[in-house]
Amino acid sequence: MSRLSTRGVIYRLIRYSDDSAIAKVYTEDLGKLKLFVPKAFTKKGGLPAFIPGVIDLYLKENSDLNRYYGFERDPAYYKYISTHDISLRLHLVFEVLDIICQEREKDVRLWKYLLRYTEENYRKVTPYILHHLLQEAGLFFDPYVCSSCGGEGESGHVFDNEFICSNCAGKGIYIKPAVLFYIRSIPKKEIFRNMKITREQEIELIRFFCEYCQSALEQKLKSCRTLLELI
Ligand SMILES: [Zn+2]
Repeated sequence: MSRLSTRGVIYRLIRYSDDSAIAKVYTEDLGKLKLFVPKAFTKKGGLPAFIPGVIDLYLKENSDLNRYYGFERDPAYYKYISTHDISLRLHLVFEVLDIICQEREKDVRLWKYLLRYTEENYRKVTPYILHHLLQEAGLFFDPYVCSSCGGEGESGHVFDNEFICSNCAGKGIYIKPAVLFYIRSIPKKEIFRNMKITREQEIELIRFFCEYCQSALEQKLKSCRTLLELI
């Protein structure tokens, strides 16, 4: 058991009783955690969700419900709630993160990616994080080689965690050329850095990743529909 502070973000508050709550947080040092917050709802309102900052907590060894002591938000990330385009996308990111990530499993890269949203690049970051989450969990497919003919293909389907190019007429979730191009560009840093994503391309990406996540996780994601309606 120990008291510590770590950078982190509160992504969900579940009212417990009176003014206490269970906070779900993602931290830099400890990954996903649950915290008991005695006074989460005051007259000034609840704890701010989605803004990264420093969380002061007491880590319990024999329980997965840890104790919250304090949170100091980082003003550099106020845009995470004041910019609607960013907060809207964070709902989906954290919904998937909450399902995929295990408690106390640190992922430094994921933490870094969560801090990447800006007013300029928000269209590009969401599919990037979803791809990382799926990849780390071993739930993503090899997008480079058709599992049937061994060719590359410009579009195709994913079925049972395998990519099947359009020449081989697969079944499953359809991947449009632009979506496949985006996925294949992720490891190519130079190309990916200079890539611009339009609203239409983002819609295709989100549509694919939502469909893929729901199928891989065997769960309906609440934030998909809202996000696709509001993009
Ligand atoms: Zn093929």
